[in-house]
Amino acid sequence: MKVIHDLNEIYAQIDFVRRDARRVGLVPTMGALHSGHLSLVQRAKKECDVAVATIFVNPTQFGPNEDLTKYPRTLESDLVSLRGQGCDFVFVPPSDRVYSSGHSTFVEPPSIARRWEGELRPGHFRGVATIVLKLFQLIPAHVAYFGRKDYQQVAVVRAMVDDLNVPIRIEACETVREPDGLAMSSRNRYLSEEDRLRALGLWRALCAAQSRLAVNEVKSACLEAVMRDELIKAGVDCIDYAAIVHPGTMEPVDVVDESAVAIIAAKVGSTRLIDNMTLTRKEPNSASDAVLHTA
Ligand code: AMP
Repeated sequence: MKVIHDLNEIYAQIDFVRRDARRVGLVPTMGALHSGHLSLVQRAKKECDVAVATIFVNPTQFGPNEDLTKYPRTLESDLVSLRGQGCDFVFVPPSDRVYSSGHSTFVEPPSIARRWEGELRPGHFRGVATIVLKLFQLIPAHVAYFGRKDYQQVAVVRAMVDDLNVPIRIEACETVREPDGLAMSSRNRYLSEEDRLRALGLWRALCAAQSRLAVNEVKSACLEAVMRDELIKAGVDCIDYAAIVHPGTMEPVDVVDESAVAIIAAKVGSTRLIDNMTLTRKEPNSASDAVLHTA
């Protein structure tokens, strides 16, 4: 596994791989890797000849009151994990090379970025779209793998790639969960023991919405009330949103036709968590459909 810090070198290495007619899969991350991230690398390894992971805590996607300085940085163990997956290249660029002094060009994010995370975290998707486009320029991969855990993020990246004709395919990968259902996240390590239990409320709320839909409760207002009840029952009372949206546009829907996505953002203690589930009216088994971590 080659660990590369230099921007010119990563481009040259990947360009060389491409000229050799080998397919390149890219997994952008901010590090503090867990099994969710590693599942993306596994998928890249399976579907491509060469897997490239990037580790970069992108300052422009953090708001002024967010946890940029506190964000976990665990480079050494991240590299051990990536080596264990057979990752071929890891790109760890220095921040001042990615954003040189005087950097002033940003991507205006697509309209799907407006609601939800975009509204609550002003500037977040501008930072995400900018860093992702930069990484796509530096690493000319065939496919990039993103987690469905960040549902709106994948939608933003897809729309950007379509709108700007970026020659890369975007693949969305299933959310990897702890055995009890909590979506894996680098931020879970901030949860106290008590908060860890309360955090399970997000998963319970999503499962409750799916169960209610399965017995033909199709009104979003009812499904949203069910989610809020579950969250509050679990002790999660700082809810940013608990909504039912269209899977393509992420606009709120009044009624679930065939499928919809339940999205939740809430603060548990001082940790903000997000999660989502695709709801379907067909006989579901959300718990067994979920990718639960068993190792
Ligand atoms: P991050 O390091 O949080 O920016 O995440 C890097 C990538 O990993 C993003 O595409 C995330 O959506 C994805 N990811 C994060 N958590 C999970 C998870 N639990 N399951 C699958 N993918 C994930």
